[in-house]
Amino acid sequence: MNLVLMGLPGAGKGTQAEKVVEEYGIPHISTGDMFRAAMKEGTELGLKAKSFMDKGELVPDEVTIGIVRERLSKDDCKKGFLLDGFPRTVPQAEALENILADLERKIDYVINIDVDKNILMERLTGRRICKSCGATYHLIFNPPAQEGVCDRCGGDLYQRADDNAETVQNRLEVNIKQAQPLLDFYEEKGYLRTLDGQRDISVVFAEIKQLLRGLAE
Ligand code: AMP
Repeated sequence: MNLVLMGLPGAGKGTQAEKVVEEYGIPHISTGDMFRAAMKEGTELGLKAKSFMDKGELVPDEVTIGIVRERLSKDDCKKGFLLDGFPRTVPQAEALENILADLERKIDYVINIDVDKNILMERLTGRRICKSCGATYHLIFNPPAQEGVCDRCGGDLYQRADDNAETVQNRLEVNIKQAQPLLDFYEEKGYLRTLDGQRDISVVFAEIKQLLRGLAE
C-alpha cells in the first residue's frame, strides 16, 4: 500500500494521515517531521534544513530526495507507506518514481483531500485561543458559550498573529501554486484520486478505506 497524501493547509490531511496509519499499520513519512526531528537532535541534516525552514523556503531537492530515498529503503516500508509533505515539486515527484522503480515498487494512489479555498479561509481564520489557559476554540465549529470568553477559565480569547486573513490567504495562494503542477503530474500518471474534504472526518475516512479496499500489500 504505497500512498501519497495531498491537501492544502486546513484540509484535514493530518487528521486523515493519523487514521490511515493506525488502520493499516504503515509508516507515516512526513518530510517536515523528519526535518524538525533532525533540527532537534542537532544533526548535520538538521543544520542544513534549519536555514531554509526558518525562512519558510523549501529545503533543496538533493537533500530532501536523499532522506526520502533512505527512509523508503528501510524494512518497515516493505508493506507500504504514507508520504505526507513529499513530493512538493515535480522534480521530487520524478525522483520518487525513480526511487520506487529501484525498489521495484510503484505508487498505488495519490489521495488529494479537496476543500474550497473560501472554506479553508473560514477554517483557518476562525481559530481563537485563551490567553490564560491556552484552550482553543473555533468561531464556527467550536464556539465559546460567550463571545471572546474562555468557557474553561473565563480568560480572554485572542487570534494568533499568523491566523489573520491576509497571512492565511497568502499561505493558501503559495500552497495552491506549489500543488497544481503535482496534481497535473499525478493525474496524467493515473494515480490521482481527489476526495471531497468538506464532509465529516469519518465520511472522508470511510471513502479512503473504500478506495484502499482490495489493494495488495
Ligand atoms: P511541513 O511540516 O510539511 O509544512 O514542512 C515544514 C518545512 O519543512 C517546509 O516549509 C520546508 O522548509 C521543509 N520541507 C518539508 N517537506 C519538504 C519537501 N518535500 N521539500 C522541501 N522542503 C520541505
